[in-house]
Amino acid sequence: MTTLTFLGAAGTVTGSKHLLESNGARLLVDTGLFQGFKELRLRNWDTLPIAPRSINWVVLTHAHIDHSGYLPRLVRDGFSGPVYCTKGTADLLQVVLPDSARLQEEDAAYANRRGYSKHKPAAPLYTEADAFEALKLVQGAAYGEPVRLGKHLSLRFTTAGHILGSSVVSVDVDQDGQAPIKVVFSGDLGRYDEPILNDPSPVPEADFLLIESTYGDRLHEDANPKEQLALIINETVKRGGKVIIPAFAVGRTQLLVYYLRELEEEGRIPVLPVAVDSPMAASATRLYGKHHEDHDSEMERLDEHKKPLATKNFSLVQGRAGSKALDSDGGPAIVISASGMATGGRVLHHLAQFLPDPASSVVLVGYQAAGTRGRRLQDGETEIKIHGEIIPVRASIEAIGSLSAHADWSEIMRWLSGFKRPPKRTFIVHGEPPAASALKERIVRDLGWNVMIPAYQESVELT
Ligand SMILES: [Zn+2]
Repeated sequence: MTTLTFLGAAGTVTGSKHLLESNGARLLVDTGLFQGFKELRLRNWDTLPIAPRSINWVVLTHAHIDHSGYLPRLVRDGFSGPVYCTKGTADLLQVVLPDSARLQEEDAAYANRRGYSKHKPAAPLYTEADAFEALKLVQGAAYGEPVRLGKHLSLRFTTAGHILGSSVVSVDVDQDGQAPIKVVFSGDLGRYDEPILNDPSPVPEADFLLIESTYGDRLHEDANPKEQLALIINETVKRGGKVIIPAFAVGRTQLLVYYLRELEEEGRIPVLPVAVDSPMAASATRLYGKHHEDHDSEMERLDEHKKPLATKNFSLVQGRAGSKALDSDGGPAIVISASGMATGGRVLHHLAQFLPDPASSVVLVGYQAAGTRGRRLQDGETEIKIHGEIIPVRASIEAIGSLSAHADWSEIMRWLSGFKRPPKRTFIVHGEPPAASALKERIVRDLGWNVMIPAYQESVELT
């Protein structure tokens, strides 16, 4: 008997964890942290319904924290098996897991200073030392290379086009005395025809399919992001201001730099100092350059004779001193810095400096969740709080909606059209309820497939 249990990303977009049990063995696909609202974040502290030491293997679809960030806790609580992922993901985990641990430690220290934790002293969910223990278990595999797990299971990664190393995972399950089955986990699906990364590759068959639904009810803006960027930059240069772009360190930052380089080469913007000020973004940019297996053909062609992920006057800023020096330099410049929704990180220093400057622009790229500073700026608030200080907003605030890293519903449907026969059952995960329902309706109506939206902690027998 084979069963699937949904331990996260059910009714929400975070906390991805899917448990596949067969022939007495356990495979956990993704070990995501819950993020966002407090009631979700508290789930990170719940005991899992199964003992971590009873899990045989972990496989990760990609390195985003909502898919990988629970791993250090799982290892601290007793999991000691191998963790399989692609080579790109294995390298990114070296950057994102210790960073996530430092944030957990800072949160606990802050709670202790403020005395608001129930636990005294407040403990972090895990520490940097736990993250380094977890990293020892990680094994990178090539796309397409079969990975054998024990006697009955094997799996294979194919490209998902979402971030460096992101994958769709296909698991073959040999069931004693019954027909073998194939279970496919979409992970997060990226966009088609975007620079740098390969497109999501089609998967020809699945008996059971898990599909993400982040944008299951939305279509991305048609507007060309490069044109929007050029317009904002040229206007800001005329005023003599700076362009500050809060951006996710892995993925969006690299895409922005790629577009800025093209705009310079095409003579559509002047050559300006461009600085990426985020230690994680700097590391991720180096990894994007290194992993050729993830590059699309244009990126590979460029890579032979120039640096596609750098502009003419480009710097990856090291250390806090470099970050401060940026702000004191006069004249127009572009600063890309994390975090993407301005919830923390070094971008806050740049925002504190330049939000009061009417000549400057702040460009929001990607989804700004309710309650974040990014969302408040997008909603037109005239002052925001940074590091305890009220900062007046006089800079021009711009949003570019077409720079998302997730497939919209039409792109999800395009990927689903690659299946040569309908799966016996399709499970919709990783979406808020309206997005999941909209995608379910569309798949039922257009493809006639058997579709289910599983509930948190629900178990389903795969027969
Ligand atoms: Zn993701």
